[in-house]
Amino acid sequence: MSELFSEAHALQQDSQDDLRHFREQFFIPQHEGREQAYFCGNSLGLQPRSLPAALTEELTNWAENGVEGHFNGKHPWMPYHEFVRDSLASVVGAMPSEVVAMNSLSVNLHLMMVSFYRPTKERNAILIEAGAFPSDRYAVESQVRFHGFDPAESLIEIEPDLPGGIFSMQHIEKIIAEHGHRIALILWPGVQYRTGQYFDLTEITRLGHAAGCKVGFDLAHAAGNLPLNLHDSGADFAAWCSYKYLNSGPGAIAGCFVHDRHANAKLPRFAGWWGHDKTTRFKMGPEFIPTPGADGWQLSNPPIFALAPLRISLEIFQQADMQNLRKKSVKLTAYLEALIQQQLANTLTIATPANPDQRGCQLSLRVNAGREQGRALFEALSAQGIIGDWREPDVIRISPTPLYNNHSDVLRFIRAVKLWQDAHHAS
Ligand SMILES: *Cc1c(COP(=O)(O)O)cnc(C)c1O
Repeated sequence: MSELFSEAHALQQDSQDDLRHFREQFFIPQHEGREQAYFCGNSLGLQPRSLPAALTEELTNWAENGVEGHFNGKHPWMPYHEFVRDSLASVVGAMPSEVVAMNSLSVNLHLMMVSFYRPTKERNAILIEAGAFPSDRYAVESQVRFHGFDPAESLIEIEPDLPGGIFSMQHIEKIIAEHGHRIALILWPGVQYRTGQYFDLTEITRLGHAAGCKVGFDLAHAAGNLPLNLHDSGADFAAWCSYKYLNSGPGAIAGCFVHDRHANAKLPRFAGWWGHDKTTRFKMGPEFIPTPGADGWQLSNPPIFALAPLRISLEIFQQADMQNLRKKSVKLTAYLEALIQQQLANTLTIATPANPDQRGCQLSLRVNAGREQGRALFEALSAQGIIGDWREPDVIRISPTPLYNNHSDVLRFIRAVKLWQDAHHAS
């Protein structure tokens, strides 16, 4: 038995891990009296232990102050979204004025497309990846139709050129060179949800802009997963949800980025009173004057009970620091990868790129024996409290997150698959 595969090795790695104490800041779900090995931060991150008190604080503020809670209490509601702004900006690599927490992801994608998808007769297409997350596809297709165009013509879906559903940059470049003149908007994932491939946002933006397209990113699987450089990427806009790696709870309030160069631009937008210039909002005038920056896209006064979890979660990210988290993440995922190659090569194929620069924490796995066996393995793992998730048609996603996972969790996963492999597929 090689060293990597030993419990001693995993325990030693965990004891040397500078970030190990962050695990204690989360509720880890239990399974038959022990902690789950929870690899599902790509779908729903775990709850910070400090959250219940933060939510209670707002309930108490409401109970004790009523409407005056907008101005009283430790975290007055009026400027509440500003309490998350700096930390949100730092997680995605933006200027504070470029980000805002509001709505949910699909809603923000639509609001961004209202401003940044401005099709003309000659240039009306949206470019996305084939096999995009369904909500994104529905959103872009409905935008195309809304503007009176036909998705059969104006929705370009690129098929991946590499095995396992992976895109090479050359391929993306070629497609943009070929179709760029008729593309109004490129909407691309930061990390593709099914394969876990991470893209070079700067390069995609550069290619898109050179062809005269607007470029936006869906960062659902990227925000909180790895450090981002949204401002420097030059992207026009981005949107993401906060219940995945950002640990802000089911249906959490989402994030949105609008690049600084659009901060004062007179872009068409769907407006609401909370996007109105803060200094004159309560004059209640009839004319909409947007607040500069991403705040100008807000519609409603924000849900405080949704912002509190985001505030708490981002505090933890601030303490841990994205660069430190990434260092641990690269190591943890490399450990998972090495053990799969060493112990499970007959059973599993990794779809996610092997280059750490092209992935976050997630590995997407296919069971060599096919979909049915894949599904059976997934269920056998779940029954033991080893929680990944299943994505049709045939992918098991395992996402060791640096905040609350460790080497021992990874080893537990590997051992369970090995036992299953030996029991079912002794060859
Ligand atoms: C998770 C996810 C969504 C979910 O959208 P909601 O509006 O938050 O329900 C959308 N797109 C992608 C790419 C996702 O990964």
